[in-house]
Amino acid sequence: MNIRNIFVIGAGTMGGGIAQVFATYGFDVTLFDVSENQLHRAKASITKSLERMAKKELLEGKSPEEVAGKISFSTADDALAEADFVIEAATENFDLKRKILTDAAGKAREEVIVASNTSSISITALGAATGRPQKFIGMHFMNPVPVMKLVEVIRGLDTSDKTLATTVALAKTLLKTPVEVNDFPGFISNRILMPMINEAVYCLMEGVATAEAIDDIMKLGMAHPMGPLRLADLIGLDVCLDIMEVLHEAFGDSKYRPCPLLRKMVFAGHLGSKSGRGFYTY
Ligand code: NAD
Repeated sequence: MNIRNIFVIGAGTMGGGIAQVFATYGFDVTLFDVSENQLHRAKASITKSLERMAKKELLEGKSPEEVAGKISFSTADDALAEADFVIEAATENFDLKRKILTDAAGKAREEVIVASNTSSISITALGAATGRPQKFIGMHFMNPVPVMKLVEVIRGLDTSDKTLATTVALAKTLLKTPVEVNDFPGFISNRILMPMINEAVYCLMEGVATAEAIDDIMKLGMAHPMGPLRLADLIGLDVCLDIMEVLHEAFGDSKYRPCPLLRKMVFAGHLGSKSGRGFYTY
């Protein structure tokens, strides 16, 4: 594995965390976004997170400044030509990702692996669109990336053994625990998690209990560290809705229909902690 330069596409909740973790373990990272504003937000949130991690002595003996210095923030994608590994963490939309990934695969060197952090979209379909399906893979980090140990590694129909082995090794370099799954809508994590969150939103909509009561029941009764509505706010309600839409369309099963209240919250711009209001206020 000769990977030094990482190119991260999308500087939202996940892209910033992914950039931070790669930088912590010594990689040079370019964090790319079409929005200057998102890059500013990512820089501020990485700075805060690095300070917290330093206090807990989780920066591999490095200072927050040293780690932050490994990340370049850019609205230009010139660094793609130098990248040794590309990971896309842009908005959860198939057409948008297809365009971004086709473009990125056209600019990155031929031998470079291109990965997507998608929560639910077909790795096989995205890989085919890039024209390098053997070198395309799902590398699904969890939120918050610096804290969560799991990386769900998703193998598309044509992903090669070498691409899989390299991605697994790379995740281990970040001290994450990679778990391999095959490409199926929502993979394992979101095929199981999202219908639970969606059902919690139905319970709220139907007045079965308050948001606090729903979360308390799942925390105290099922030993979940966080209730499903609080977790939905952390993930982003727009991201939750996008994932439910993917599951609903891909399986054609009404059990995955997104709750109307979830849709209404997204229409209103109440996207959870990132917008200051979701099922709770922040
Ligand atoms: P987000 O809405 O916080 O950020 C998305 C970013 O993509 C924004 O900064 C946006 O400006 C950027 N973007 C949009 N179009 C772009 C383009 N053409 N080029 C470059 N950047 C572009 O979303 P997020 O929560 O960070 O999710 C990103 C991906 O990670 C999605 O695929 C999502 O499903 C997945 N994911 C999210 C979570 C979570 O908890 N939020 C967890 C795991 C995986």
